[in-house]
Amino acid sequence: MRMFSCPACGATAFFSNMACVCGVELMFDPAKHGFAVNVPACSNRAEISCNWAADTNTAGLCRSCAMTKVIPDAFRGDNRMLWASAEASKRWVLATLARWSWFTPEDAGQSPEFHLLSEDTASGPAVVVMGHADGLVTINLAEADPVEKIRRREALSERLRTMTIHFRHEIAHFLFERLTASRPEFPDAFRAIFGDEREDYGKALKRHYANGPPEGWTDEFITPYASSHAHEDWAESAAHVMHLTDMLDSAVASKLLLPPLNNLDYDAYAERDPDPLIDAAAAYGVSLNHVNRSMGHGDIYPFVHKPAVRAKLVAAHGWISGFAA
Ligand SMILES: [Zn+2]
Ligand SMILES: [Zn+2]
Ligand SMILES: [Zn+2]
Repeated sequence: MRMFSCPACGATAFFSNMACVCGVELMFDPAKHGFAVNVPACSNRAEISCNWAADTNTAGLCRSCAMTKVIPDAFRGDNRMLWASAEASKRWVLATLARWSWFTPEDAGQSPEFHLLSEDTASGPAVVVMGHADGLVTINLAEADPVEKIRRREALSERLRTMTIHFRHEIAHFLFERLTASRPEFPDAFRAIFGDEREDYGKALKRHYANGPPEGWTDEFITPYASSHAHEDWAESAAHVMHLTDMLDSAVASKLLLPPLNNLDYDAYAERDPDPLIDAAAAYGVSLNHVNRSMGHGDIYPFVHKPAVRAKLVAAHGWISGFAA
């Protein structure tokens, strides 16, 4: 993510800022990819601290909030806080995907719809399964709670589990559908590298949860879950391309200079060649992991890329960036 400036005074403004130190209210305008002042605010601003400007086409909501079709009962328990936190992650992910033109006014294709559901409902505890189906992304808001997120991460033995990661993974499934519909060469290219996604999905997941990943999975898969089915291998790989590109973009915006890059004008989202992008992002990952340890935090990016995994990241980058030949 880039860093921005206040249009009134020029002070640095971060993506989630609601107001500037000079006192003006800040509204992020996704069309301009920057902050505006004195423009209509998203009608969810007071309710969930959405700092985006209203979209002219969406009855007072911003472009991101308008993509959410179902919200939780905000008057129950922590639901409003969980909804606000999930929407903040969603805005981040959508703003960064817009750098590759996804879901922008220039993008003629369909956008995903989101159902942000709580397990805490008026009719008792609900089972909410995260996932994507036919353009609809379902998110379980329970994981916007930091304690619950860590409890589930430990239960599933995952290295990293955040709302931002969930949104990227589920949107990657949606991008598979967009690419299948718009790029005739995509299905064959996909199967050559990720395998045949027509394999029975239910059976594949059952097998994964019963047996775990195959021995030696790290040679071929970025995460254990990626080994469950070609669809999940794609979603995990494409999400990792989003993580790496954004991590690098944020590092450059923060003026962190490391040897593989040495260029503060570098635009990770404009990079057509995935190799230097992945090399630089991986180098930043190693350094930032070390920085995190100085405060006792976990690693920002605890993953390694074996050659077969790297090939999947390279392929996914080509497709989701739009730079694939
Ligand atoms: Zn200002
Ligand atoms: Zn909004
Ligand atoms: Zn998935």
